[in-house]
Amino acid sequence: MKKSYKIIIVGAGASGLGIACCLRELGIKEYVILERDSVGAAFKHWPKETRFITPSFTSNAFGIPDLNAITPLTSPALTLQTEHPTGLEYAQYLEILAKKYKLPVKKGIEVFRIEKQEQKYILQTTAGDIEAEYVIFAAGEFFYPNKNIFKGSQHATHTATIPEYKKLIGEKFTIIGGYESGIDAACALAGYGKKVTVIDSQNRFETTSDDPSLALSPRTRDRLKQLSNPELLTVQYGSPVTEIKQEKLDYKIVLANGTTLRSVTRPILAAGFATSTILIENLITRDEKQNTILDPLTDEVVGSPNLYLSGPMVHHGDAIFCFIYKNRQRYAVIASSIAKKLGVDTTPLEQYRRYQMFLDDLSCCEGSCGC
Ligand SMILES: Cc1cc2nc3c(=O)[nH]c(=O)nc-3n(C[C@H](O)[C@H](O)[C@H](O)COP(=O)(O)OP(=O)(O)OC[C@H]3O[C@@H](n4cnc5c(N)ncnc54)[C@H](O)[C@@H]3O)c2cc1C
Repeated sequence: MKKSYKIIIVGAGASGLGIACCLRELGIKEYVILERDSVGAAFKHWPKETRFITPSFTSNAFGIPDLNAITPLTSPALTLQTEHPTGLEYAQYLEILAKKYKLPVKKGIEVFRIEKQEQKYILQTTAGDIEAEYVIFAAGEFFYPNKNIFKGSQHATHTATIPEYKKLIGEKFTIIGGYESGIDAACALAGYGKKVTVIDSQNRFETTSDDPSLALSPRTRDRLKQLSNPELLTVQYGSPVTEIKQEKLDYKIVLANGTTLRSVTRPILAAGFATSTILIENLITRDEKQNTILDPLTDEVVGSPNLYLSGPMVHHGDAIFCFIYKNRQRYAVIASSIAKKLGVDTTPLEQYRRYQMFLDDLSCCEGSCGC
């Protein structure tokens, strides 16, 4: 007989655990979190040098939760005693939280497909088929890097697969992509005295926006200013890479404007992420920007009742929920939607609203208004 749960959360990252904490507040116990690896696995796999760009601060007592907290009353700054945690440190915060709240994480279970059968969802997993009435899909993006974006891009190493920049062998590096991950890699390598060329189609330094999802963060700009030898870093903007050719002695990087660059070391690809929603392609529909169409009031997948999406894959118009302080605003929205369907009182989630962690009116995020 198939194992059966009322609610299954896929992924024990910030989103999966954040929603589990909301369910806990509501007294809902019939749920489980399926995790392919371990709690906070994505953060554990960040390059060792990479730190949060969003600062952590113990501001909760004044009603403003730490920007990287996933519940109103916890603070990574307090737990970790640092302002910009590494991925490994942040995973520690998540692990402490999962333990403290006794969250039912089942580790080492990978979900590879979900199908709808009558009123239930069947999750095909490495532990066999498991069924659920409600599924919260929070499998993130990190383990789904964007690798095939131009001809020969497989000859580059994606930043998501680099354990530590210090261990890369070579003196000169070429990074394709000059946004947060690319500049993070560049600062780390330049800090080790390596010569770095960053290529991007856009000039990210000159782009300013009140939405940090669209422009380099203040922390990254500070790091660039603090480079002890800025001459190690060259930035080439204006034309995208169209091809990488692996040649006998080096890599040839071809740009759309016809220029070429040579790199003796394997180019580094900082081109962002695809999303885990490829695993539920059969259950979703996408808009013209390829984002999953969700009910703006609940983050329920349109056309698949009782299937919810959480995390950086959530988009509503111009609002992109890629940072934790953004995607956490929808955890209580999802928990509240499920609670209402189950006839459970949602009053305990009012605390989330008081702490600005319950965003059910998306009008504040439209256009250029900072949310
Ligand atoms: C390098 C980098 C730096 C970042 N810096 C910041 C920052 O400074 N501030 C900020 O707010 N945000 C930052 N982000 C974004 C932040 O990491 C995400 O918003 C956050 O991780 C989203 O949490 P999540 O739980 O949705 O996804 P994840 O943290 O990716 O968690 C998903 C979980 O699902 C599991 N999983 C995946 N697939 C399956 C499957 N098929 N079956 C079962 N389990 C599965 C994974 O193992 C993982 O544990 C950064 C991201 C990256 C990559």
